[in-house]
Amino acid sequence: MIVLAEIGDKVPSVLSTLVASVIITAVVLGLARLKWWLALLALPIFGFWNWICYIELQEPGFGNQIWNEMGAKYVVGRFASINIPIAIGVAAVAYFRRVQIRHHRRSNHLCPDCGYPLGRNPCSECGASVGHPRAD
Ligand SMILES: [Zn+2]
Repeated sequence: MIVLAEIGDKVPSVLSTLVASVIITAVVLGLARLKWWLALLALPIFGFWNWICYIELQEPGFGNQIWNEMGAKYVVGRFASINIPIAIGVAAVAYFRRVQIRHHRRSNHLCPDCGYPLGRNPCSECGASVGHPRAD
């Protein structure tokens, strides 16, 4: 007797993976608002998640069924739904961190590029042209 079991109900859907990834990304980015380096928590979490999905595909008798039944579209969609939200989130944190540093430097009359105290324009340390240096 041959038992044919569908694999589709034993693996998470792309949509549920995407929802979980967005929720974890939101939590990690919420923590990153407290301390930017807490965003680094995403590395082990998402690294482990990717590794689990990879191992699942390597499982004898299970991984090839995923490929055969669900297809490459599912596999690619699953990895994309895991990684795209956190990639966008980390890029956003890096961008806003950079904006925050430049704003802090400008408001403290430091060169926004290198942080050197501004005396004249352009910056005497790195040569960056600065909009309106303070006249001391
Ligand atoms: Zn400079």
